Amino acid sequence: MRLLILGASGAGKGTQAQAIAKHFDIRHISTGDFLREEIRPSTALCRAVKRLIDRGDLVPDELMLSIVHEILEGDDFILDGFPRTFAQALALDEICGRLGSPIDMALNIHVPDDDIIQRITGRKVCPDCKAMFHIIFYPPKQAFTCDNCGGTLEQRPDDTASTVRHRLKIYHERTVPIIDFYDRQNLLISTSGTGDVEEITQNLIELLEAKLLVAKLEKKMEKGIWR
Ligand code: AMP
Repeated sequence: MRLLILGASGAGKGTQAQAIAKHFDIRHISTGDFLREEIRPSTALCRAVKRLIDRGDLVPDELMLSIVHEILEGDDFILDGFPRTFAQALALDEICGRLGSPIDMALNIHVPDDDIIQRITGRKVCPDCKAMFHIIFYPPKQAFTCDNCGGTLEQRPDDTASTVRHRLKIYHERTVPIIDFYDRQNLLISTSGTGDVEEITQNLIELLEAKLLVAKLEKKMEKGIWR
């Protein structure tokens, strides 16, 4: 199964993608995590990419596409953080078509901008296992320490209030139009990302399973093999 998860930074894409990957036993591919891990400030290109990320700007499509091309080959996955532009969505279609395995469904998580700002500015991330915490809504049991692996929690450099506002502006201008792109292909599942994290996961899984079943039945009917 090949899934996408869409939504603004802070909507809970990473947390939900991790839970869904675990439930369906598929890979969780986060382009943001990939960039943060691969960036070694030793080359001029990496330094330029790091500056873009820290400022809350997007990494150019051409570079993102060459990265994604490599990491998409292989098993089933849930792709988190890609596509973020219309050009990336079109290119992803083309890559998946060439690999002979189209995207099965795009999940979209909606959270109001004010909530996003509150969430991101209090967010703490484990650099080792990528678990997310929040100083108010989901604090770790022990301050600054990851509940899962004991790593020292950090704030991402792009999680400041002004950078978050800039990222939201880019999200509305460049990423929101993609939601409609998947909706028109009848591949979209949208849900609110406000409320209990586990309930949101359960809701997404139920919607996804129902929609996949309907898509499968529709395909059978189209082929005339319905009994
Ligand atoms: P994320 O962890 O998904 O919030 O991504 C962090 C940052 O990585 C973004 O603000 C961008 O600078 C960069 N990034 C991640 N995915 C993409 C993408 N598909 N296209 C362009 N930039 C990206």
